[in-house]
Amino acid sequence: MRQLYNLITLKLKTQSYKHIAAMTIFSKIIAGEIPSYKCAENDKFYAFLDINPVAQGHTLVVPKHEVDYIFDLSDEELAEMTVFAKHVALAIQRAFPCRKVGMAVLGLDVNHAHIHLIPLQSEGDMDFRKPKLQLSAEVMQQTADKILKEFSK
Ligand code: AMP
Repeated sequence: MRQLYNLITLKLKTQSYKHIAAMTIFSKIIAGEIPSYKCAENDKFYAFLDINPVAQGHTLVVPKHEVDYIFDLSDEELAEMTVFAKHVALAIQRAFPCRKVGMAVLGLDVNHAHIHLIPLQSEGDMDFRKPKLQLSAEVMQQTADKILKEFSK
């Protein structure tokens, strides 16, 4: 009986580890297994600072539902994600006054659909090839807190 119990426990643990290993890095962030600088959240979407920002306030918006390619989301999910991203963008703009907030989709590095939101002063601010900003953990936290505060208004 004890052996059977141990076998079942081991199987469940293995399944659970396999599940965690199979999760994308963004799903691990959403699950709180990896830290992030949270900017906004609702029941379906999560927004957090990009750790390699091209501008201060560079934010990623992701669906909690794990899908690789953004255009594999259903029409409804994509529409809802865009509306969520709009409200995050408006919060970014209030927190960090800029000419506009740019929106980009790449998804070549992380296989979990996401939208980049970037405060823009000029076209070059959308250049993903330029050297990334080096912001301290303290500045990153303050940046996320400012956006979250504006988003929550
Ligand atoms: P791409 O898939 O080409 O849109 O790029 C993925 C983006 O995710 C890059 O800009 C990375 O800096 C960002 N990124 C990767 N891992 C993390 C993380 N743990 N926290 C925040 N941003 C991340």
